[in-house]
Amino acid sequence: MTRQLVSVRQVSHLQPLTSSASLLLADVDGWKCAMKKGTAEVGDHVVYFEIDSFLPVTDDRFASLRQLNTYNGKLSTRDGRFGFHVKSTKHDDALSQGLIMPLRCFPEITSAIAELRENNTHEETMQKVMGMNFEDKLNVLKMEDATTARIQPSENSLGPCPSFFPKTDIKRVQNCPNLFTAKYKDAVYQETVKMNGSAETVYFICRDSPLYTTLPPLEGRADMPEGRIGVCTRKRDLPDKPGCLFWGAAIYYQLPEKLAALGKSLAIQGELCGSSICQNREGFPEGKHDFYVYRIFDIDVQEALGPAETEEMAEQLGLKHVPVNSYSRLHDIAASNADLLQRAEGVGFYGKPREGLVYKNVQDGRSFKVISNAYLVRNGE
Ligand code: ATP
Ligand code: MN
Repeated sequence: MTRQLVSVRQVSHLQPLTSSASLLLADVDGWKCAMKKGTAEVGDHVVYFEIDSFLPVTDDRFASLRQLNTYNGKLSTRDGRFGFHVKSTKHDDALSQGLIMPLRCFPEITSAIAELRENNTHEETMQKVMGMNFEDKLNVLKMEDATTARIQPSENSLGPCPSFFPKTDIKRVQNCPNLFTAKYKDAVYQETVKMNGSAETVYFICRDSPLYTTLPPLEGRADMPEGRIGVCTRKRDLPDKPGCLFWGAAIYYQLPEKLAALGKSLAIQGELCGSSICQNREGFPEGKHDFYVYRIFDIDVQEALGPAETEEMAEQLGLKHVPVNSYSRLHDIAASNADLLQRAEGVGFYGKPREGLVYKNVQDGRSFKVISNAYLVRNGE
């Protein structure tokens, strides 16, 4: 399931905030979010904008946020547009994450509800609506780190990433309400440290694969008798140009030769970290960069390897893996989502406070991330 930045959710709990008489702290799924009193009651459906949303200032409904004390939205720019970045904010000792607005402000959504209602019961309708994502309809964008764009200006690109390997987009724990139900009683998860750099995928397509001809022709180290290598950021397929850190990592680890020798169409997905990436939040020594694998995707069968297999193959290829803390039953290491959030606090690779943890289910391969709240507040996210 892709992320729902803008969705209809139900308020399950309300509590007063000591810091303000006009605000309440509302629970929506796993999130706690401050809202103006009277916006909604327990059980009401509301529109919830998750942190990382970028709201267009050209929409009056958001422009008025400037006056609201429920929300400390500051103007930001993204792709030359102005808008508000929805963040985590501290209210005394409570943390508020996201933005809640009443359904009635959004005819884009209420009309979708009315349409569904023609053929569904009220319950069915609301169930369906809650599974929908309204970010496109409301012109809400995802705020993204500008770092990748800076490293990789768009003229230095072969186009978007090929579609034969998945983009990684990991659900936040706040959106996983069932982890501590009987369903996951015995589920075993790999716990890894979330590294804070830039996503990189190195792919290899065998020459006899039907996908080979779908790729733009390349010179240099990309084209080999056995097949074709490619290096992508989260968004773009990159040409092999001098000074490109993403290609630098692939060449340093001799991935063209090693993947050609394996003779399988694979995508190696990892995090490129280092002193010039993502404000060096991991604290790498000046000039040092490295690549840490978190997923290996078998392109022929369109399936990721299991977590243990991934670790093994990374080792075989002489690659580093993101730090693995443990393989445990989730219910043995935590009793609630709040416990997981507590575990996420800690230090990262070079001793700096970390971004968080990633959990991967060893049976079904599904992941969720637990981002440290201290990290979010510190970095204005
Ligand atoms: P943003 O888009 O703001 O950078 P994000 O990094 O949390 O957010 P997601 O797609 O939700 O983006 O998270 C998955 C990304 O996290 C992966 O693409 C990868 O780049 C990165 N990552 C870092 N460490 C790990 C890890 N241990 N396991 C999985 N992914 C990791
Ligand atoms: Mn990231």
